[in-house]
Amino acid sequence: MTPLEFDQQHLWHPYTNVERPGPTFVVRESEGVYLTLDDGTRLIDAMSSWWCMVHGHRNPVITKAIHDQLDQLPHVMFGGLTHKPAISLGQRLLSVTPDSLTRIFYCDSGSVSVEVAMKMAVQYQHAKGFPGRSEFATIRSGYHGDTWKAMSVCDPDTGMHHLFQGALSVQHFVSRPPIRINQEWVDDPAQNGLAELRQVLETNAQKIAAFILEPVVQGTGGMYFYHPEYLNQARALCDEFGILLIFDEIATGFGRTGKMFATDFCSIEPDIICLGKALTGGHISFATTMTNDRVAEGIGNSNPGIFMHGPTYMGNPLACAAASASLDLLTGQNWSGTVSRIANQMETELAPARDFDGVADVRVLGGIGVIEMKHRVSADAAHARACEMGVFLRPFGTNIYTMPPFVTSPDQLSEITAGMLRLAQEL
Ligand SMILES: *Cc1c(COP(=O)(O)O)cnc(C)c1O
Repeated sequence: MTPLEFDQQHLWHPYTNVERPGPTFVVRESEGVYLTLDDGTRLIDAMSSWWCMVHGHRNPVITKAIHDQLDQLPHVMFGGLTHKPAISLGQRLLSVTPDSLTRIFYCDSGSVSVEVAMKMAVQYQHAKGFPGRSEFATIRSGYHGDTWKAMSVCDPDTGMHHLFQGALSVQHFVSRPPIRINQEWVDDPAQNGLAELRQVLETNAQKIAAFILEPVVQGTGGMYFYHPEYLNQARALCDEFGILLIFDEIATGFGRTGKMFATDFCSIEPDIICLGKALTGGHISFATTMTNDRVAEGIGNSNPGIFMHGPTYMGNPLACAAASASLDLLTGQNWSGTVSRIANQMETELAPARDFDGVADVRVLGGIGVIEMKHRVSADAAHARACEMGVFLRPFGTNIYTMPPFVTSPDQLSEITAGMLRLAQEL
């Protein structure tokens, strides 16, 4: 049995049929924007390995930080103990995140950070004397992870809520914000989505703990970019009804949208924020949930006071060291110039796709480039062309998209956009 045959018979891959696995490449090593396959083929990773690998694969600064930490303190429990990597990462996070978010909970993955955020909201409402407020409001087409509570606020159709009916909590869904980021804001609540949001929050105020959504960019739910004014006004509605506001910035954080955080497009700040994906520059799984003094004090000054969560690998020193190194790389360069250079080039090079048959829309925001087709696109068909193109793209739904590593050179980015145009013509 070859290693690949073993893989196909025994290993489950994300969102796949284990009986009929799709085509799969064996990756031998990685460096910068490149993946090297076992036959020596090199592919540009146009996905930044699911949007994490912002400084490129095997980044020497991040791998050194992990090596050094490995030689000193690979792991220790966080209960009753602490360490410098956790503390220095906390200091760095406070210097870049929205000012009001001062309390940091470290966890293992994005989905867990969403679970933690939702538990914080419920525990806060309980502490404030509202034990009935345990449900959540969210917008359609969202994606927040694959664990149960996170899944309950994912889009009910793409999240296949019908399949898990009975096992998922019932949540309150409103339409996704109808006004896009590049459109003129319309102040009429009937047209900008806020009338519907007000109606749902007002009717269910005694049941809802928080309103959770991805700010400005809906990722997995359709690569949709909406107007930040929706968030400013949603904040006011949440305040009016005593509902907390949670921003899931797992995909948008750390420069991807052209701002350090998508929150930076807004004039308001959320009560709780989830960070993950690019947090460690893609080198090791890690996430955080951050909140403000109001929520932390609300939970802490009540009975029982303790926050009921504590993963085994909480605050893992290797992950903290990787995240600090990644943040230093980001803040130590002109990241916003880099992202806008990437955005401008993608705008120019993807524009021709607007005239292709089958293309519904072409859009770019920061380091996110999307060709939306009128029909669904097969990831396997893109896969079949990857070696010829020298570019690894993995479309989903109707979107052929890239989130290139920030270290992608102009020539490499041209290869990516050429690959996307080709897929838009052929698939
Ligand atoms: C990827 C993602 C998650 C889940 O993160 P995992 O690390 O895969 O658990 C949650 N929310 C958003 C917005 C994401 O993009």
